[in-house]
Amino acid sequence: MLIKNRTPEIAEILQNEAVRLRKQVYGNEVFLRGLIEISNYCKNGCYYCGINCANKECNRYRLTEEEILNCAIEGYKIGFRTIVLQGGEDNFFTDEVVCDIIRKIKKNCPETAITLSLGERTKESYQKLYEAGADRYLLRHETADKAHYERLHPEKMSFENRMNCLKNLKEIGFATGCGFMVGSPYQTEENLAKDLKFIEEFQPQMCGIGPFIPQKNTVFANEEKGTAELTTYLLSIIRIIKPNILLPATTALNTIEEDGRVMGILAGANVIMPNLSPKTAREKYNLYDGKAISGEESAEEVKKLEKTMEKIGYRVVYNRGDMREYRKEDENGSI
Ligand code: SAH
Repeated sequence: MLIKNRTPEIAEILQNEAVRLRKQVYGNEVFLRGLIEISNYCKNGCYYCGINCANKECNRYRLTEEEILNCAIEGYKIGFRTIVLQGGEDNFFTDEVVCDIIRKIKKNCPETAITLSLGERTKESYQKLYEAGADRYLLRHETADKAHYERLHPEKMSFENRMNCLKNLKEIGFATGCGFMVGSPYQTEENLAKDLKFIEEFQPQMCGIGPFIPQKNTVFANEEKGTAELTTYLLSIIRIIKPNILLPATTALNTIEEDGRVMGILAGANVIMPNLSPKTAREKYNLYDGKAISGEESAEEVKKLEKTMEKIGYRVVYNRGDMREYRKEDENGSI
């Protein structure tokens, strides 16, 4: 099997093919998303996550509507044309509150796409957010294996509901993103094969993957972290499975490797999500230990990021960065 029997030679072949496909669809362009972490209050108890409700050590915060809008405007001025609102499942953010924020961002930041990453909600709720103007929704499936899902989440949460949410998001018309952690506790190669199969069948527009990193106040505090080697390997495979997918080089990858961004892009990723949250929020949005929050991880340093990308032959672009079409007939028999 492709994962179990991987070798550096196979990794290189897959990487070359992934890069060839990404260049065919997106050239050397790297899309940016400005990430705003709106709240670390969460009603869920995901065992891996540092902001889960059982963590009494977590210093909770919630940005005000005004703060969120100001971050978005700041990002807009820097040049971002996609704003991502991510947070724990915080009951404060009702449909009404989120819809209001969406409309205000749309009004103040013309031509900007809004991506939401606010967890599981009802279909009616997703519909309202979509009608208010949200364009995309990220909801990692976390694992495509039900038994594995149940080992990562408390009983209250259900694999079926997560999958159902993803289906609903797609039906409504959101550009939808799924994804999973690499090297999460109890994960087997078979689980990963299922994740890849799921991506192939579900055909998401986006897919977020990054290594699992333990957080000290969670039940998985002493588990092993995932590796950059397997993460980049899987990034290449995902690019090959769906050549036009929007695929970020994630903060988690950049946290375990100093040049994680570069490694991700060179493996076939085409999106980077710098952090636009206020400094204090960045520190408190502790999904895992040691989260990279400064340097090129922060939106203020996009100039540096531009240079880093240039050095490896890529170019940061300031547009919405929507998914493009992939046409097989464009292949000119190059393999
Ligand atoms: N509440 C939202 C956003 C979750 S945070 C939701 O449910 O979708 C975004 C992602 O961070 C999660 O989907 C998870 O895959 C990842 N994450 C959480 N804890 C992590 C950890 N310890 N290591 C690596 N990634 C983690």
